[in-house]
Amino acid sequence: MHLYSTNNPGVRVTFQEALFKGLPADKGLYMPSALPVLPEDFIQRLEKYSFQEIAFRIAEHLLMGEIPGNALEAIIEQAVSFPAPLVELDSNTFILELFHGPSMAFKDFGARFMAQTMAYFNKETDRDLYILVATSGDTGGAVAAGFHNTPGIHVVILYPSGKVSPLQEKQLTTLGGNVAALEVMGTFDDCQALVKQAFLDEDLNTAMRLSSANSINIARLIPQSFYYFEAWKQLPYYDLPVVFSVPSGNFGNLTAGLMAKKMGLPVSRFLAATNANKVVPEYLETGKYNPRPSVRTISNAMDVGAPSNFARMQDLYGSTWNAMRADIAGFSFSDEQTRDAMQALEKKNGYMLDPHGAVGFLAFREYQKHVEPVQGIILETAHPAKFREDVSQIFGHEIDLPLRLLELTDKQKISVVIPPVYSAVKDWLMEYSKGR
Ligand SMILES: *Cc1c(COP(=O)(O)O)cnc(C)c1O
Repeated sequence: MHLYSTNNPGVRVTFQEALFKGLPADKGLYMPSALPVLPEDFIQRLEKYSFQEIAFRIAEHLLMGEIPGNALEAIIEQAVSFPAPLVELDSNTFILELFHGPSMAFKDFGARFMAQTMAYFNKETDRDLYILVATSGDTGGAVAAGFHNTPGIHVVILYPSGKVSPLQEKQLTTLGGNVAALEVMGTFDDCQALVKQAFLDEDLNTAMRLSSANSINIARLIPQSFYYFEAWKQLPYYDLPVVFSVPSGNFGNLTAGLMAKKMGLPVSRFLAATNANKVVPEYLETGKYNPRPSVRTISNAMDVGAPSNFARMQDLYGSTWNAMRADIAGFSFSDEQTRDAMQALEKKNGYMLDPHGAVGFLAFREYQKHVEPVQGIILETAHPAKFREDVSQIFGHEIDLPLRLLELTDKQKISVVIPPVYSAVKDWLMEYSKGR
């Protein structure tokens, strides 16, 4: 597999290089130099394949031999180890539940594939790898669970003390083993700055092999294209155009959908569903891209004012506004609309959406008003219980914690409290890596 940089089409790197580097030196984003169309009979006969078989076929098709078949099979088996069921709300409306993984959000797919592919290439060296992650909550949980027990790889998570939810904190601090949590007496921005400084510290980089698990890593996008095919496979009929509604923040999930379409999945349209942070819907409507600071909403994993994958979306459409508009329709909804939609759907169908999925649901209902009949697949990006405090309040009753989250509440938190000072991080890392 070869990838170029969105800032320089002349750059050519392998998947392995893009995986460990994360970002090209020119600050662009890595893009596959080809997204070849999958064989038509594969797409026509998706229902004959398991989710893992679908994932394997797509990964094999994209990686083009960079990881041999038997190793890739083992990677997929570990990475795609939970289902993505399609739930029917009515005959034209389906929910794709992406929350059946360990951290109960779709980010598990990306984090696990990334962990497994890193572990595969890391076998070639005898030096341990240290993944540094700053998190405001969600990403850290997925990365921690994704890399847990991966041989030769350690994960060090920096999170702002008192600024992640109690449940999120447990996801970061109770795994132990190769996952360590640094509880920083500061803000998320402090955590991010500390991680950045560590990557620039020559001293530290000589002492230990460092890498990131950044959300813009191409290894997190590739597996997200798998479940668009898996969703398609589960549709009960195929005689209406199919649209995917994607609750979006950094637009990685939606970009993975665009890649699935390039590889031959016959999607009619994608809906870019956002909260009040609506720079992409605005661009789709006006042709003007105006990134700006984010505003806080109840779907806070989508509170992004300058979506990092916008450069990839532009790249896929040769920066042509009309071409992008033909494939993607943009929508934005307020917190009040989101709450109303959650309540109304629970009342009508007994189905509880989380605030992110609810934005996707609203986008599909709005889209339906303006077009001939279509089938909609709404990506439900997290389990509602992940946001238990907010969500219980919205529904007016406590919501049950699934077993996976319930188990966490009894587990003992283990973290290392540090001041938001670089020397504290460095000293700890140096000590931690000794004798490993
Ligand atoms: C990260 C996240 C999103 C946004 O996904 P992007 O790929 O950044 O657009 C939506 N919902 C949930 C629950 C998330 O954790």
